[in-house]
Amino acid sequence: MNRITENTRRILGELPEGVELLVAGKGRTADELMAAVEGGARIIGQNYVQAAEPAIRAIGNLVQWHFIGHLQRNKAKRAVELFQMIETVDSIELACELDKRCAGIGLIMPVLIEVNSARESRKAGVFPEDVVALTRGIASLPNVRLMGLMTMGPLARAAGECRPFFSGTRRLFDEIDSLALPHVQMKYLSMGMTDTYKIAIREGANIIRIGRGIFGER
Ligand SMILES: *Cc1c(COP(=O)(O)O)cnc(C)c1O
Repeated sequence: MNRITENTRRILGELPEGVELLVAGKGRTADELMAAVEGGARIIGQNYVQAAEPAIRAIGNLVQWHFIGHLQRNKAKRAVELFQMIETVDSIELACELDKRCAGIGLIMPVLIEVNSARESRKAGVFPEDVVALTRGIASLPNVRLMGLMTMGPLARAAGECRPFFSGTRRLFDEIDSLALPHVQMKYLSMGMTDTYKIAIREGANIIRIGRGIFGER
């Protein structure tokens, strides 16, 4: 069996009930992604709208496509045509643009807020203290549906040092859930990558995003 297929199958086999694998596909060919699909992958994440198009054309709706990169507003129109979830909403301006573009084609887009849980100045995402305000803003938009939070955690540190940032994001998730806002349906907590997914699952992640652990180093 292909190594990619094998890695995908092994990771899927380790996951507890209710935790979904997102295959992080940046820089991988459609053939490589297809090998992961053959191993059982059902969600592929992409970081760039244009670069994702060939693979989306080739693989189509065998999987769900999640956008996990930094989304520029001028790419929102194409993004809502190609992706079934946007995991990286980080401003009300972007949320409004997505809402407008979704209204134009008559769909409601599930979105996650990207939390800059380690409050790193050069990192994408919303600081934890600003997430509730953005949640309320998104709740007022008819064509985007807030369904959870996504975080990266701090980069370039020992895996265990991610734990407090994952648990903090989990607490924020629970806090928003307990507000019971109309049109907000807190269901997905997307945290953890190749080096940190086991910790993330213990801290409550139900989507983990794996690239290198499936495909090898880029
Ligand atoms: C690349 C990427 C991942 C996967 O990282 P690996 O270390 O390769 O597992 C997860 N999330 C995002 C947003 C990414 O860009």
